[in-house]
Amino acid sequence: MGVPGAGKGTHAAALSEKLRAPQISTGDMLRAAVSAGDPLGREAEGYMNRGELVPDRLVIELVVQRVNEADCTTGFILDGFPRTVGQAKALRAAGVKLDVVLELHVPEAEIIERMTGRRIHPASGRIYHVTRHPPRVAGRDDATGEALMQRPDDAEEIVRKRLADYQAVASALTAYYRQWAASGDPDAPRCLRVDGSGGVATSRTRVFAALGLQ
Ligand code: AMP
Repeated sequence: MGVPGAGKGTHAAALSEKLRAPQISTGDMLRAAVSAGDPLGREAEGYMNRGELVPDRLVIELVVQRVNEADCTTGFILDGFPRTVGQAKALRAAGVKLDVVLELHVPEAEIIERMTGRRIHPASGRIYHVTRHPPRVAGRDDATGEALMQRPDDAEEIVRKRLADYQAVASALTAYYRQWAASGDPDAPRCLRVDGSGGVATSRTRVFAALGLQ
């Protein structure tokens, strides 16, 4: 978990490689549905472009189906899900077990700078930043040479709205997982809060250390 731009996608990708577990990003899945123009994408697109959360019913089904696919039997990394208490409860009700809930904490000013400079390669979900993590050729993906894009929801006024919305629901979500962990239920995920500020390598070191990885 973490505010938009906290580094969820970047660190989830590194963890996915390290643990050989698929990264399941609801943002990437929804963007793929929008590009494909399928019914889910058509319904989700307006919410996404305005920087709003899409309704729970659209994402819950998507994730529950995905974690039941064969490549998830030995583990998976959820990136950007759950984002609401409703989604967290639905995951629990579906019997999807989590080991750890990791929250990345980054100050707001740093988030604005990160997000407005962010560029993505839509086909792969690879993420760059115009100054912090530039591609080898400006505006082009390193692996394919294809054009990078700025997400419509990374425009500054939309970023500010997404941050405000995040704060409103995130504290309830964090409280939900903290209370569950404190209840002593052996199925409750461990809750970790990690400083996600600074460069990618620095914050990745903190994330890996918090998880006991090298
Ligand atoms: P992200 O790539 O994680 O920043 O997500 C981009 C956008 O997709 C969000 O601003 C939401 O509109 C939508 N989205 C992604 N994940 C979720 C989720 N778990 N619940 C609701 N909306 C989501």
